[in-house]
Amino acid sequence: ICGVRKVYRIGTEKVIALDRIDADIQKGEICCIFGTSGSGKSTLLNQLAGMEKPTEGKIVIDSVDITKLREEKMAAFRQKHIGFIFQSYNLLPYMTALENTALPLMFQGYGKKEREARAARLLKMVGLGERLSHYPSQMSGGQQQRVGIARAFAAKPDVIFADEPTGNLDTKTTAQIMEMVLAFARENQQTIVLVTHDPEMASYADRILTLIDGNIVKDERKDKK
Ligand code: ATP
Ligand code: MG
Repeated sequence: ICGVRKVYRIGTEKVIALDRIDADIQKGEICCIFGTSGSGKSTLLNQLAGMEKPTEGKIVIDSVDITKLREEKMAAFRQKHIGFIFQSYNLLPYMTALENTALPLMFQGYGKKEREARAARLLKMVGLGERLSHYPSQMSGGQQQRVGIARAFAAKPDVIFADEPTGNLDTKTTAQIMEMVLAFARENQQTIVLVTHDPEMASYADRILTLIDGNIVKDERKDKK
């Protein structure tokens, strides 16, 4: 992440959401972006995942400068290399747990049988083996987020971005979900970039980047939990 700046303009108003961000996140690192509300965490994550383009600077993932990729190329890159876990789960309401989980595999050219077998295996791993045909509205928040995790890992992405993934869940469910995410990621040397304002959540990370007003003010590495 090199000299990244994001300025939003609303009429004549300017909001500097990211002032100047420089950071180097390693492969396999569990990295937390930590800060109070409005510090720029989601903005940074959205630039890193290529959802938005920064006003200045570049973001290089595995030697590809994603700020230079046009929309279709970015979409293809995302499908191949990036997984995303959302605070509000973002499952498709008209698809079952199995169909939601299998969706990213469609873009990878797997046949239907293979997609479903892999999705079912992932759902079993997150403890939802008995919920394959359930729709999101028929599951609890924690169950829906476990589907979100299975879906994020389905296509074996290199990097997973998560924005307050347990923001709507109780402490015990949060711990279970985080253990699950870390176990998956460590098994395949996947990189996790996790946004949170919660110190307890941040304590799961190997590294904590603290944001204030769009700048990284602290970069701490910790012993693995
Ligand atoms: P929270 O913990 O509340 O989610 P955050 O750290 O994720 O906060 P951001 O959503 O990144 O904060 O917002 C950083 C700043 O950028 C805020 O001042 C916000 O108002 C502004 N901002 C974010 N998105 C936009 C946008 N699309 N247009 C204009 N301003 C924006
Ligand atoms: Mg946010």
